[in-house]
Amino acid sequence: MTPKTVAFRKDARNVFFHILTRCNFRCRHCYINPREHGTKTLPVSTVETWLRVLHKPGKASNLILIGGEPTLHQDLPRMIRCARRLGYASITVDTNGTFCHGILDKTSPDDLDYFSVGLDGSSAEVNDRIRGKNAFKRAVSGMEKAIKKGFRLSLIYTVSRMNIFDLKNMPNLLTALGINRFFIQVVGIRGRSAQVGAPSLQVTRRQWASVVPRVARRAAGLGIQVTYPKVFLKPGERFECAGLVADNYFVFPNGRVYRCPLCEDFPLHSLAFNKDKLEPRPPVNESQLFQLTISEGCVMNKLVQPGNLDYDTRGRPRYQVACCLLKEEIHPQKT
Ligand code: SF4
Ligand code: SF4
Repeated sequence: MTPKTVAFRKDARNVFFHILTRCNFRCRHCYINPREHGTKTLPVSTVETWLRVLHKPGKASNLILIGGEPTLHQDLPRMIRCARRLGYASITVDTNGTFCHGILDKTSPDDLDYFSVGLDGSSAEVNDRIRGKNAFKRAVSGMEKAIKKGFRLSLIYTVSRMNIFDLKNMPNLLTALGINRFFIQVVGIRGRSAQVGAPSLQVTRRQWASVVPRVARRAAGLGIQVTYPKVFLKPGERFECAGLVADNYFVFPNGRVYRCPLCEDFPLHSLAFNKDKLEPRPPVNESQLFQLTISEGCVMNKLVQPGNLDYDTRGRPRYQVACCLLKEEIHPQKT
């Protein structure tokens, strides 16, 4: 059961569309940054127009509708139907599990491929310290309702210093809930966790390597498909920047469109919606940073989360940090 690194693909597009930045939770690691992303809720007509612009016929475009909490948008069901009509190859809604505005009754498993629910602990004790009071209970009861209605679910766990010890308990929880897709993320130093004075949530390379692949293998053994970021490259592995070799769009309600999530705390977006037209922005922006070659691997990692790096006594990096979008995948294997 060896994890397979999923190569970047130019022939597939991934559109991460933040339809609002508002949320009914206040997670400690929330990456939303109102200074850079605004506080606007996009009208459904604008979302539909931008969905049209972002869809390229002939290329498989995967859409992830995200927020803030996207189910707080009353018109989410209409957006999902519009994306289906336009021919998006897959449609996922990333949610905190509160499933607001009766979304489970207003959309159908035929229109939506997945709800992807964020949960950061196998118990209220662990999860609610990160995601807030009653977050665990609300998400679990929401997931149970969604499953009863026939929706497909995946679960996203953001690994930080606050919950890495509990990751091992997640495969059993997924099995109990009947969820067979598991995304493990690593906490990024963005948004709230990048604020001055915020406690460091980053895990070390050693902690990551000793816990995550092992739990992922165990989950796969229980019949769960697992995806997690590579984070650290092994000697001899080739570094590639998704900004140059893949086709990802991170769209915000203030019109900013980034190609790299690590740039989202800065006005470095390479594209922007201007009167509903998607236009390139003049330099300097993230595109110029993608071109830089450094021995540490990812340039943005070195700039925004250098705590991930380590150097030998001669000042040479001990390893390269992979693109944050490079994933390892393990397919389910029933024992
Ligand atoms: S649920 Fe998502 S958007 Fe809301 S606070 Fe948590 S991380 Fe931020
Ligand atoms: S995370 Fe680093 S390697 Fe990946 S797109 Fe951004 S700058 Fe490029």
